[in-house]
Order: sequence, then C-alpha cells, then structure tokens
Amino acid sequence: MQIQPTASHFIDGKYVEDTAGEVIEVIYPYTGKVIATLHAATPAIVGQALDAARRAQKEWAGWSATERGRVLRRAADIMRARNHDLSVLETYDTGKPYQETSVADATSGADALEYFGGLAASITGEYIPLGDDFVYTRREPLGVCVGIGAWNYPTQIACWKGAPALACGNAMVFKPSETTPLSALKVAEILCEAGAPAGVYNVIQGYGAVGASLITDPRVDKVSLTGSVPTGRKVYAAAAEGIRNVTMELGGKSPLVIFDDADLESAVSGAILGNFYSSGQVCSNGTRVFVQNGIKDAFLKRLTERLAGVKMGDPQDPDVNFGPMVSEKQRDIVEGFIAKGIAEGATLVCGGKRPDMPGFFLEPTVFADVSDDMTIARDEIFGPVMSVFDFDTEEEALMRANDTIYGLAAGVFTADLTRGHRMAAGFAAGTCYINTYNDAPVEAPFGGSKLSGVGRENSKAAIEYYSQIKSVYVRMGDLEAPF
Ligand code: NAD
Repeated sequence: MQIQPTASHFIDGKYVEDTAGEVIEVIYPYTGKVIATLHAATPAIVGQALDAARRAQKEWAGWSATERGRVLRRAADIMRARNHDLSVLETYDTGKPYQETSVADATSGADALEYFGGLAASITGEYIPLGDDFVYTRREPLGVCVGIGAWNYPTQIACWKGAPALACGNAMVFKPSETTPLSALKVAEILCEAGAPAGVYNVIQGYGAVGASLITDPRVDKVSLTGSVPTGRKVYAAAAEGIRNVTMELGGKSPLVIFDDADLESAVSGAILGNFYSSGQVCSNGTRVFVQNGIKDAFLKRLTERLAGVKMGDPQDPDVNFGPMVSEKQRDIVEGFIAKGIAEGATLVCGGKRPDMPGFFLEPTVFADVSDDMTIARDEIFGPVMSVFDFDTEEEALMRANDTIYGLAAGVFTADLTRGHRMAAGFAAGTCYINTYNDAPVEAPFGGSKLSGVGRENSKAAIEYYSQIKSVYVRMGDLEAPF
C-alpha cells in the first residue's frame, strides 16, 4: 500500500501541495524510519482551504438534511469496506497494533458518520405558541468549523469532529497532529467520494503555528480541539478574541475505584483496558487505580500475571497486542515520569524499562504504594504507567478520586449496585463507568469537566456544539406603538 500521500493537503476536493511549507516527517514508531514526508500549510494554503470551506458551506447548508445525511452514511459504508487498508495506515501513522486499529479506529469513525448521517434530518427547531402569535426556532449551522487533532486517534478524531459538523450543514477545515498526519487525508478523500461537495471537508497539515493561525482567522466560526490542557488554554483564549464557539477535548488523570466486593477478573480487565490499551495513550485512561485494602494484594498478583500476556512486536502483526509509543519524544517524557515515581518513593511492581527490541517501546508499568501528592499521581503521563493507591472507605475513595484538576472520566468496580450509582453521582467527571472502563460508543455524550474540557462530542449532545438557534417572532394581528 502507498504510505506517501499524493500531496500534503486535501482542499476543495483535491490533493494540493506547496513545498514551501515546513517539512513534516512521518516516522513509523516500530522502525523509527521516515515513511512519508509532508509539508506544513503556508499562509496561501490556509487561505485556500478557508475560502473553499466558506464557499462550499453555503451550498452544503442549502441541501436538504436527508441528502446531507445520505452522504455521511455512504462515507461510513466506504470506510467499513476499506477497514483493512485504513487500519494498516493508522498503524503506520500511530504505531498502535493492527489488532486495535482494525476494531477501534476506522470502525469508530464509520460509526460517527453513520450516526450523524442518520440524525441529520431530525435536526429541527421548535414551535412556541404565544396566544395567536408564535415563535419558531431554526437550528442553523455555525459556518466554517476548524478541527484540530491529537495524535492518538487520528481517524476517529477527524470523524468525531467532521460528522456532527457536516450533519449540521457546516464545512470543516481539519488540521491533524503533525505526528500523525496521514489518516485524516483518507477521511477527506472518502467524504468526497461519497458525494460531499468539494470544499466541505478539507485537511491541511501543520505544527501548532498553523493551528494558531486558523483560530483567529475571520473566516472561522468555530474551533474544536482535541489536545492537552496547555494547548487548550491557548486555543480557548485565542478563540475568545473573536467570541468563537469552542469544543475542548483535553487531558485527564482519571480515577478507577475498585472495592473489595468487585469481581476481581473484571476489575483487572478494566484496569488493563484503562491503562494499557493504545500503550496508555488514551485521554480518558483510569491511571489512578484506587484499590480497597482487602483486595489489594490479590489485585496486584492477578494484574502482574495477566500482564505477562502482553505481546510486543511489529504492530502490523495481528498477534501483537501492545505497540510502541507514538514517538521517541513521547517515550522520553514517559520515562521521565517513571524515574520521578521511583525517586519519590513509589514501589515499581513491574515494567519501567525499554524492552530489547526495535521501536519506541516501553513495558507496561505498574507502581504501587503511590501517595496522592507524588508527581505520577497528579500529572497526566499519557503512556503505559498505572499508579495503584490503597483506601479504606467509600467516602475516602470519592474524596481522593475527585482531588484533581482534571474531570474527564472516572470508573468504579463493585458488586453493590447502589454504591456504584452513588459513586457515579459523586464523581466530578464528564464520563463515568460502573463495572466497565473506556467504552466510547457514538450514542453516548463524551467530554470532560474542570480542566478536561468544554462541550461534548458524540450523541445528540454534539449537535448543540455545531449549530446555533435562531428565534423567529411572528405576529398574526396588527402591531401598535406608543407614538
Ligand atoms: P497537543 O496539545 O500537543 O496538540 C494537539 C493539537 O494542537 C496538535 O494538532 C497541535 O499541532 C495543535 N496545537 C499545538 N499548539 C497549538 C496552538 N497554539 N494553537 C492551535 N493548535 C495548536 O496534544 P497531543 O500531544 O497531540 O495529544 C495528547 C493530548 O491530547 C493529551 O493531553 C490527551 O489527554 C489529549 N487528548 C484528549 C482527548 C479527549 O477527547 N479529551 C482525546 C485524545 C487526546
């Protein structure tokens, strides 16, 4: 398959190149070798994309919602039919194992396209009677939406932002992460092939500066970012200058609370899924695992046994279930946190090292005896590092779980149904799990509270963030005035 794309950008229905832009090298995290070379968007490319989006949006918004929805559903079918190739590409882009990408990336993108394709025609206003007079509301698109992506789920993020935006009648200019620029180009190609008018969904490449130049451009009406909190602060502040609508999907340091009465195998599965899937590079990961004292030893023993089942290697091999980190830089950052964990006195239960093989690998790492004030307990690590804490009571667990600046997700494992719901109600987090972890079906709202973000993706809730309401007042009789 071809890894080097036809050109760096996809604008107005076709591939476009401008070699004057800064070089972006795409590195396969398993070999460390450059597999494609792209160029960041120059101001001319940014302008071309925004002009195309602005023009196309007017045409697209004029289509019936049923017609728009049909395009999205057709795109979902194409994505599913090409799942294998798209998954191979996603694995080259990110280093995530094919075993994951073949079930979690293009498939999740297709779900979003299908869901919002189905929902498009139901996006309507309401009728508000006022005696003989009345008001009706129109739910209208915002205009041109900018999407800016992180590197951990490039296909999914391109679709999670694009599908609701397009369903509401907006156009999109999407800038993928410079670390994983390949997959979003395929999303743009497929939408075009499915019948989206040229210019409705554009992809331009670039580092942070290209993202920053998009946010303050007067042609832009909305910005949706998936990224870290420091970037979120900058993007939110820049968007505020033009009072632009925003969606912020940011970082987390989510708690996972396991009570003595929990089913041990399920709880260990939840902790593994919530810490080591995608080599720990998942925003909603439950990286602070609070284990009640009665079950702690059994939990750590079973966890260590099950981690022996990790199979590292070439992520394109379907038997491999644990891939390298996305980049050398990210591995260095995570190694720095591991060193801090050891230095600050946490007990290294397993992992902590680079295995003896090619690629930016780090072993799945578990720390026990972690205290709440250690660096590994407070900062987002974004790698395969789990911290285990012990606790005695439910009240204590909830208070410590919520003692964080983040509020993306939280989970609880318990056999006590009422306690599960009590914990979910008490968690200060946007997405909560009872006896499961890290599910993200398109039907349910996804997003964070506190520093983890603003707005929601997926579900009917996303429509609120990609449309605006207009009220139309209608008087049926004569209108009087005092003079
Ligand atoms: P990042 O913040 O470094 O970069 C995100 C994107 O923002 C990139 O495309 C980058 O080029 C761009 N960017 C950087 N500076 C910018 C600026 N000043 N203006 C505009 N754009 C700018 O994040 P990352 O390292 O790519 O991804 C990891 C982070 O993303 C983690 O914190 C993770 O928790 C978070 N994340 C959140 C979610 C979620 O849904 N909440 C999902 C995935 C990842």
